[in-house]
Amino acid sequence: MDLNYTLEDLAFRDHVRAFLDANLPKDLQEKVLNHKRLAREDYVRWHKIVAKQGWAAPAWPKEYGGTGWTPVQRHIWEEECARAGTPPILPFGINMVAPVIMAFGNEEQKRHYLPRILNCDDWWCQGYSEPGSGSDLASLKTRAERQGDYYIVNGQKTWTTLAQHADMIFCLVRTDPNVRKQEGISFLLIDMHTPGITVRPIIMLDEEHEVNEVFFDNVKVPVQNLIGEENKGWTYAKYLLGHERTGIAAVGRAKRELLFLKRVANNQRKNGKPLLDDPVFSVKVASLEIEIMALEMTVLRVVSQESSKRGPGPEASLLKVKGTEIQQALTELMVEAIGPYALPFDPAYLEGEREHSVAENDDAAPLAPYYFNFRKTSIYGGSNEIQKNIISQMILGL
Ligand SMILES: Cc1cc2nc3c(=O)[nH]c(=O)nc-3n(C[C@H](O)[C@H](O)[C@H](O)COP(=O)(O)OP(=O)(O)OC[C@H]3O[C@@H](n4cnc5c(N)ncnc54)[C@H](O)[C@@H]3O)c2cc1C
Repeated sequence: MDLNYTLEDLAFRDHVRAFLDANLPKDLQEKVLNHKRLAREDYVRWHKIVAKQGWAAPAWPKEYGGTGWTPVQRHIWEEECARAGTPPILPFGINMVAPVIMAFGNEEQKRHYLPRILNCDDWWCQGYSEPGSGSDLASLKTRAERQGDYYIVNGQKTWTTLAQHADMIFCLVRTDPNVRKQEGISFLLIDMHTPGITVRPIIMLDEEHEVNEVFFDNVKVPVQNLIGEENKGWTYAKYLLGHERTGIAAVGRAKRELLFLKRVANNQRKNGKPLLDDPVFSVKVASLEIEIMALEMTVLRVVSQESSKRGPGPEASLLKVKGTEIQQALTELMVEAIGPYALPFDPAYLEGEREHSVAENDDAAPLAPYYFNFRKTSIYGGSNEIQKNIISQMILGL
């Protein structure tokens, strides 16, 4: 196992950096680096720039528009995007539903959906969780009853990220209530503009509209929107969850945020000196930096196993737990550094409507909302407790 980049990898990194320098719009970069809110059009604009370059779906097979990059090159791409401060390419289309369509969809579905996903012509969201069915996902109750050429869908999804912008939702629905719970589930693609769908916002701790409840009231879905076989949806859902967790360590972003933390702490004074020089605070920063370096090594080990075709296994759970703990610790230290200056809540600045914030300095303004927002990371994508169960069973053999 070689954890160093080869000369070819370094040349590839330069190539990626040159592309980002030339093509990342400055206004988007400014929003990302300063923790401001991104609008729907910001995500779509960046996705389309990357798609035009042919790099929107690095992990896809080349025949569908993938890049043919090695796992190490894909890792470098993600690192460099994080370093530069690009908006994320949202996972719901490219990383979640597309691999399921490729593996289990029919030719017509592949022909119709994959190019649209690649180019961000449709905005997708994920309809898995329901009230009472999160960790115990297989207990979901949203019903789909076959009537002629349609399924009639009734029920509720919840925590649906960015569904307010969505054109399409991929849903787990119950098609047979009379068998073992895992065996009566199907995987349906539903047009969000269909009559009978209501999206209701859930406003989070940071007052952001990021998640929603989605209600289905006699929604007619053509049977050709079923993926694979009826009642085999649980198999497809598990396949998708494996894809969901691999990118979740977000080491590149953690490295960028560490630099931000150091800048904030350097600008704060304690006893007449920069806070970063305070021995107690600097020990906390150094400990976190060591954790980030260790996580980076672990990610590179997983990537190098992927290169040797072993594929990421339950290690993805480990990356999820450690990665999200680090992300949360970073936001905690940022708030500790900036203290009460983070208190004024300034949505107009966060939305980019005003150039400077009402807070003492612009760095401080987004930090309290950012801290609150990041409480989510140990819950979504399968909670960290559930990941620890997987680690104890699959890695530790307990
Ligand atoms: C910001 C955010 C965005 C999300 N986006 C989406 C989305 O787009 N689409 C979607 O479908 N879902 C989404 N989710 C839902 C997410 O997947 C669930 O919240 C998550 O799976 C946990 O389910 P739950 O909320 O029902 O909690 P529960 O399953 O009720 O769990 C409650 C607590 O009990 C613990 N727990 C449960 N079972 C066990 C166990 N067996 N062992 C140990 N501890 C256990 C959990 O870790 C948790 O701490 C999102 C969630 C959040 C917070």
